[in-house]
Amino acid sequence: MSSIISKLFRKKKCFICNQKAVSPQYYLDDQHNKVAVCYKCIEYAERRAMPRFKWGR
Ligand SMILES: [Zn+2]
Repeated sequence: MSSIISKLFRKKKCFICNQKAVSPQYYLDDQHNKVAVCYKCIEYAERRAMPRFKWGR
């Protein structure tokens, strides 16, 4: 079980700046992959009108 959790919460790189994502938000890229966006790049993601990833459905 812990391995599943660590997979879900492993350190992500920011989709936009490619640095280690600090307190990331999740968005969907053009291929509808879930990507992490660090707090510094959220504004950029919003400007690009990237859809926000929602947990659940
Ligand atoms: Zn970033």
